[in-house]
Amino acid sequence: MANPSLLILAGDGIGPEVMAEVKRIIAWYGAKRGLTFDVSEDLVGGCAYDAHGTPLHDDTMAKAQLVDAVLLGAVGGPKYDGLDFSVKPERGLLRLRKEMDLFANLRPAQCFDALADFSSLKREIVAGLDIMIVRELTSGVYFGEPRGIFDDNEGGRVGINTQRYTTNEIRRVARSAFELARKRNNRVCSMEKANVMESGILWREEVTWVHVNEYPDVQLSHMYADNGAMQLVRNPKQFDVIVTDNLFGDLLSDAAAMLTGSLGMLPSASLGVPMANGRPKAMYEPVHGSAPDITGKGLANPIACILSFAMALRYSFDMGDEATRVETAIETVLANGARTADLMGPDGGTPISTTGMGDAILAALDASL
Ligand code: NAD
Repeated sequence: MANPSLLILAGDGIGPEVMAEVKRIIAWYGAKRGLTFDVSEDLVGGCAYDAHGTPLHDDTMAKAQLVDAVLLGAVGGPKYDGLDFSVKPERGLLRLRKEMDLFANLRPAQCFDALADFSSLKREIVAGLDIMIVRELTSGVYFGEPRGIFDDNEGGRVGINTQRYTTNEIRRVARSAFELARKRNNRVCSMEKANVMESGILWREEVTWVHVNEYPDVQLSHMYADNGAMQLVRNPKQFDVIVTDNLFGDLLSDAAAMLTGSLGMLPSASLGVPMANGRPKAMYEPVHGSAPDITGKGLANPIACILSFAMALRYSFDMGDEATRVETAIETVLANGARTADLMGPDGGTPISTTGMGDAILAALDASL
């Protein structure tokens, strides 16, 4: 069988710094586990604009459509703030998501025991937390028509956005959530506002349809999204997989992420429909941005990007054991006290560099053999 293929788009700012540590782990897999990835690299964001006058060249887009998975670092930076909206670095990212039709955004909220005191919640509420939020990414109120700001014909203006979901859009993201649940603890909680929104009623009905007809073995519950927000801070460990729409998912995934501490720890995946080889179209990226304030200083925490690669192992390549190996290595180094600057607690200590964290994780991977 062909080697799994990866397109690395490291991007701007700390993107290349954190991606360098992922590349070392990919090389480790080749050298120590006989697992070779066909890796190609290209530009996205500001660096692509510098080279080509566009944040994503057509050739890069075409490559992204062909590989098994895209690994993205981060895009943007103050140098590009004045650019026209159409060529801003983020447009490169949005084009990838749109043209690859990545409709399911996976945002895990996982709390490593060694970092439980970083959360704004009590240790006992977050220690051992491991939930997955699946957010619909390509439809809903951010895309629905009509939209715009219009005269209201009474001397004022009216701002309009439209929440719109079709059967197909709901069913496909529901399937992603049920599939994930089967690989985890087999529970899905669907969140909407069926009490006040017709689109929420349809959401609930269609998720239920997929459950009854295709995934009766998975446990399904429903919750109003506002209650979901409360439950996430009251008792987040009650959840396994949460599936929700684009708008609620935007808010709930950020709230859940902060349960776990630093932005430098948060991975994500965006998945589309399966390709001919059965693997879903996929892009993996840390949640954080290009962090211009720390770029070039060796301060960036590479763990979010490395955990994003672990998600690729699990969700694109069906290598759950190897994903667990990477996650366990990270857990070990954190338990041993390795900290980048963003993970320094109030009691201080000496932080290690981006490369230092990479070294420690590689040593833990060696020890796992
Ligand atoms: P940011 O995520 O880049 O940084 C926010 C804060 O978190 C900064 O203080 C930064 O130093 C810190 N931080 C982020 N990642 C870190 C890491 N891995 N290790 C240690 N500290 C880390 O968000 P921002 O400052 O609002 O945006 C900076 C640029 O990134 C902007 O141009 C923005 O448009 C862009 N951005 C890109 C993405 C993306 O590529 N997906 C996401 C968000 C923001």
